Amino acid sequence: MASGNLKIHTENILPIIKKWLYSDKEIFVRELISNACDAIFKRKTAFPNCPCEDRIDVTIDRNQKTLHFLDTGIGMTAEEVEKYIAQVAFSGAEEFLSHYKESVESQQIIGHFGLGFFSAYMVAKRVDIQTLSCQENAEAVLWSCDTSTTYTIEKAAKKEIGTAITLHLDAESDEFLEETRLREILNRYCSFLPYPIYLNGSRINETDPLWIKAPQECSDFDYLEFYRKLYPLNPDPIFWIHLNIDYPFRTKAILYFPKIAQRPDYNKNETRLFCNRVFVSDSCRDLLPEYLTVLRGAIDSPDLPLNVSRSNLQLDRTIRQLGTHISKKLADRLSQLFQNEKERFTCFWEEIESIIKLGILQDEKFYERCKDFLIWKNIEGDWLTLEQYLEKMGASSRKIYYTSDLSASPLLSSYTARKIPVLRMTSPIDTALLGLLENKLSPSVTFQRVDGSLDSALLDASREKTFLDSEGKTESAKMASFFQNQLKEKVKVEAKSLASNELPAFLLLDEGDRRMRDLMQLSGQKGFSSKPKTLVINTNSPLVSAIYNVKSTELAQDLADQLYELALLGQRELESFALDQFLNRSTRLLETLLNTTHQNQ
Ligand code: ADP
Ligand code: MG
Repeated sequence: MASGNLKIHTENILPIIKKWLYSDKEIFVRELISNACDAIFKRKTAFPNCPCEDRIDVTIDRNQKTLHFLDTGIGMTAEEVEKYIAQVAFSGAEEFLSHYKESVESQQIIGHFGLGFFSAYMVAKRVDIQTLSCQENAEAVLWSCDTSTTYTIEKAAKKEIGTAITLHLDAESDEFLEETRLREILNRYCSFLPYPIYLNGSRINETDPLWIKAPQECSDFDYLEFYRKLYPLNPDPIFWIHLNIDYPFRTKAILYFPKIAQRPDYNKNETRLFCNRVFVSDSCRDLLPEYLTVLRGAIDSPDLPLNVSRSNLQLDRTIRQLGTHISKKLADRLSQLFQNEKERFTCFWEEIESIIKLGILQDEKFYERCKDFLIWKNIEGDWLTLEQYLEKMGASSRKIYYTSDLSASPLLSSYTARKIPVLRMTSPIDTALLGLLENKLSPSVTFQRVDGSLDSALLDASREKTFLDSEGKTESAKMASFFQNQLKEKVKVEAKSLASNELPAFLLLDEGDRRMRDLMQLSGQKGFSSKPKTLVINTNSPLVSAIYNVKSTELAQDLADQLYELALLGQRELESFALDQFLNRSTRLLETLLNTTHQNQ
C-alpha cells in the first residue's frame, strides 16, 4: 500500500467548492456521471474491440450510507489515478484529446465541465475509487481519501473493466440516500446523456435529445414530441427554430415560441442550457436578451464558459453572439412563415407581437430584421404592414390615425363616416413603438390617436355658428361659455361644429402627453397624471343644444357634468374614484326624466 499527498492548490479550489457548496450540492451527481460518460467514450475510442457493455449504474446503500457510481469505462491504472485524480488541477480530458485528436470529434468529451471529481467531497466524508483499466495486464486499484489531503492507494480485487466510485456520505447529506431525490437529480442533469444510466436498476435516460439531429432529419411531429417531453402538460408551442452552429462557437439548440397565457414573465426563463448533453441550468436569463427569454427549449453549447460566475457571463463575447444568432434565426423563421404561410402567421401574430415589439425596442437590429413582417390591423380587420397601409391610404398623407382600444373610441364613427382610415394599436407596448417607427420610416410618418387633435376632416365648416348677436358674440362662443360655467375649472371647453351630429362631446388628449403617460403606466410608474385638458362640445349635437337651453340651473349643472363624465368614460379616462359620483348623478337624472314624463302624460 502506498500513500501520498493530494496536490490541491487549496487557495484555488476551495473558494470555488465553497461557492457551490450550499446552493448546488447536487451537482456532484452531474460531475461523476459526466466523468463516467467520458470514460465509456474513451474506452470505445481507444479500445474499440473491448466487449464491455456501455452502462452506468448508480446505487444507494441506505444502511452503509453510501452511494455507488459504477461505469464500464476505460478505467484507470495506478499511475493514472495518481496523475488524474490526485493532481486535482490536471484534467485527463485534455491529454486524451491530444492523443486522439484525429479520431475524435472533441465535442463528445465532457471533461472540464465544472468542479470535476472533487465535487464528491461536497457530500462525502470519504471517497473510494476502485478501478480496472482497459489496458492489457492492468491491475485493479483502490484509491481512498477522506477530507484531509492524504490518500491511500493499493491493489484491489475488481474483475470488470471500469470504475466504481463509492461516496461515504457525510452527516449533512442524507437527502441523497432518498431514491426519489436522487432520481429527480439524475432526471434533471442526465436525461439526455448518450449511455444508459440506471438508478437502483431502473433506467433514467430513454431518448436521444432531438437537438443532436440535423434539422432536415426532424419532422414537426418530432419537434412537438420533444417539446411535450420537456414541458409536459403545456399547450403545444406556436412555432420553433432549430440552430446548428459550428462557427464561431458550437451550439445546437431547439427553441420554441410557447403559447403564453397573459403577460409573459420575463423573470421565469425556462430555456434549458446543456453542455454536451449534460444539463447545466434551466435559466438562460443571463445569456439572452430579455425578449428572447420567453423562448423555451434547449441550448447545447460545449463552448460556453460555464465555470465562470454568472455576472461574468454577460460580458462574454461568445454569449452575446449567441443572442444575436438566436434573434436572427427567430426573425428568419418568422419572415419565412410570413411569406409562405400568411394565414397561419396572422393567426398567431397577436400572441407573439408584444414579444417581437419588445425585441424591437431593445435591439435596433432586430427591428431591421422584423420590419417587413411587422403587421397591423386596420379597423376593417385587414392585416397590413405600414408600407402597405400607407400605400392603401394614398401617397398624399403620411399621418396615421390610430385607436388604441377599439371600444374606447367614440370618435371612431366620425372617422369611418368620413372614410378616413384608422389603424388599431391593440398591444400595450405599441405606444412605446410609435416614436421609433416615426423615426425609422422614410419619408417619415406621424402617428396620432383619433382623439389627439381636432382635424379639419372631422369638422363641418358650413354649419359653424358664426353669426354675431347684439353683444357681438357667436352662438358657438356662448355655448362654450355656458358649459364652461357649469364645469368651472374641471376642464377647458371648446365648442366646435363637428361633421357628425351623433357625438355630443369628446376629450382632446394631446398626443405627446398621452403617450408619455401611457409609457409611464406601462413601466409601472405612477404619479404622472395628465388630466385631459380640453372638452370639445359639438354645436351640431341635438343633446348639446338641448342642455344649452335648459332653464333650471341645477339640472343644467348635472347635465353638463354628466356630458363631461360620459366623455371621460367613453375614452377610458374616468378615474375609478369618480365612478360613485357618476352613478349617483345618473340615478338622479333618470328620476328627473321619469318625473317629467309622468307630468307630461
Ligand atoms: P475532467 O473531467 O475535467 O477531466 P475531473 O476532475 O472530473 O476533470 O476528472 C479528472 C480525471 O480523472 C478525468 O479526466 C479522468 O481522466 C479521470 N477520471 C475521473 N473519473 C473517471 C472514471 N469514472 N473513469 C475513468 N477515469 C476517470
Ligand atoms: Mg469531469
